[in-house]
Amino acid sequence: MGPGQSLTLEKAQAHYLFGVMRLAVGAAVLVFNGRDGEWRADVVEASKRGGVLVCAEQTKPLQMPPDLWLLFAPIKKARTDFIVEKAAEMGAARIVPVVTAFTNVGRVQRDRLQAHALEAAEQCGGTYVPEVAEAVKLDRLLDGWDAERKLMFCDEALAGGSAQLPVGDAQTGPWAIIIGPEGGFLDKERARLHGLPYSHPVTLGPRILRADTAAVAAMTLWQSTLGDWA
Ligand code: SAM
Repeated sequence: MGPGQSLTLEKAQAHYLFGVMRLAVGAAVLVFNGRDGEWRADVVEASKRGGVLVCAEQTKPLQMPPDLWLLFAPIKKARTDFIVEKAAEMGAARIVPVVTAFTNVGRVQRDRLQAHALEAAEQCGGTYVPEVAEAVKLDRLLDGWDAERKLMFCDEALAGGSAQLPVGDAQTGPWAIIIGPEGGFLDKERARLHGLPYSHPVTLGPRILRADTAAVAAMTLWQSTLGDWA
């Protein structure tokens, strides 16, 4: 995006701006594309089926989140939507649905989840939209893992224990958080995750949290210990 650049709206965007919000030619809107920060743009053409905006000035620079991925085992639809929305708001750079032994949901609709991530970024005034990846099996994900990326392994078996995130400069660099399904991790999965050199098993307190609660708690813990809240 740059000053004077025109943006052609998709039908759904035009419907929202001109049908729902009732904006017209001359109105100003804030736009972002996840790369160029937030811009003020003016409506120059408006109709229910389409429209054109012209960029005027940048209002916010791109705010990149830390290099943090959230890996989570999909659960019931509405609560999976919640996990994706909260991960987008709380600064995940990438969101990866991971199919584990006890994952008990059908096909993960990536496009729908990506739309939720976009909407969450819009609603919290973000300028960056995390990519929602295609669902991947846990073993396949770990087989191709880049060992440079550390893994915060939220292990429910550590509930009530004292396993904490490491602190200090040595813990900078790319990270990922992994949250299991409602049924938790299979012992074989747990053993593999504990045995990985880049894995950091962590407790989320003395109580067993629901998967969506655990995702928010883990993001809060990581961001306040190692992320951009510290
Ligand atoms: N069915 C499992 C059980 O009863 O032990 C609970 C799984 S929990 C609903 C879903 C996921 O949230 C877990 O796999 C883990 O990743 C995370 N989690 C929940 N409570 C936790 C805790 N106290 N410590 C670490 N991780 C936790």
